[in-house]
Amino acid sequence: PLVLGIESSCDETGIGIVRGTELLANVISSSMDQHARYGGVVPEVAARAHLEAMVPAIEQALSEADVTLAELDAIAVTSGPGLAGALMVGVGAAKALAVALDKPLYAVNHLVGHVGADLIRTDLTSTDLSSTDLTRNGEPLEYPTIALLVSGGHTSLLLVRDLVSDVELLGETIDDAAGEAFDKVARLLGLPYPGGPHIDRVAVGGDPKAIRFPRGLSLPKDMEKHRYDFSFSGLKTAVARWVEREQDAGSEVPVADVAASFREAVVDVLLTKAVAACTDLGVPRLLLGGGVVANARVRELAAERCVAAGIRLRIPPLSLCTDNGAMIAALGAQLIMAGHAPSTLDFGADSTLPVTTIQV
Ligand code: ATP
Ligand code: MG
Ligand code: FE
Repeated sequence: PLVLGIESSCDETGIGIVRGTELLANVISSSMDQHARYGGVVPEVAARAHLEAMVPAIEQALSEADVTLAELDAIAVTSGPGLAGALMVGVGAAKALAVALDKPLYAVNHLVGHVGADLIRTDLTSTDLSSTDLTRNGEPLEYPTIALLVSGGHTSLLLVRDLVSDVELLGETIDDAAGEAFDKVARLLGLPYPGGPHIDRVAVGGDPKAIRFPRGLSLPKDMEKHRYDFSFSGLKTAVARWVEREQDAGSEVPVADVAASFREAVVDVLLTKAVAACTDLGVPRLLLGGGVVANARVRELAAERCVAAGIRLRIPPLSLCTDNGAMIAALGAQLIMAGHAPSTLDFGADSTLPVTTIQV
């Protein structure tokens, strides 16, 4: 099916068009620059930017895909989770299109969209991995699979028995999300918002073993009670303390070493727990999703650990890791191909939609 997907849960207005799993267009208009000076996304500013970007982005996507509105089989839209005002703009646009064109509408979960991003077939190269045969973008998922979702607002381990009907939450962060930790640590190192890509860039020249930062919820007693849960706020505080001590002592902060050591701590704990889930549950498949999966070290260490543990790894191409409409369109297409009925038009934006609710 030919599906147009609308994403507006945070600061990216994303319009994607797919035919089944094939990517035809992926237009992203970001209001990131408008939030940078506040050090975080300002909800009202984001909602207003979505309103301005929505129609031009839809027009551009249609033109890139070389299709008309009349040719679409369905519309898909993110109904949650995310910023309520931002979500409402996408939901409103999707309902308007569906009613005006008399097309079925699929209201879907943003997080499940992230998890399904690797289903999209593209020419984009998946990774900078040395062993690229590890990832096979666009191929059907094999079930069950463990999914590690790491984004700006979420850090969760999932058992996916079927992407369109059965997603189970194994564990999640008990405080900050990994992306949030990247953004906060970047800020205290004086790097711009959003911090993830900047930490990645700066870490290249640093020594990941320079400072041993804590691995949250990884002690034996934590691994009993919180085996699949994450915690990153202690790590953030540890980095802040370390930096303060250096500054108080009048030494120059070795930014590259701090960035590399912090990144290593995050990535180590993410992959240790993901591989533990695969091993415990006897599921030799791991699927990554979410903005933090754009991180070079996440991709590298995932490949290393999965090879060592005999786990088949799938990682979406870089540009499909962060928020986009293509993953929403692709999830809509999967629902249609599985024979699911469209959403009824009485749904709204749900800022706290749980990952287990795939379609509303
Ligand atoms: P959610 O999906 O939970 O609602 P979100 O949509 O805001 O949250 P994403 O767009 O999936 O989150 O991811 C954005 C996050 O990814 C930001 O915190 C950003 O710093 C982080 N990120 C992006 N690129 C990188 C990178 N190379 N390394 C680490 N983090 C990164
Ligand atoms: Mg974003
Ligand atoms: Fe997201």
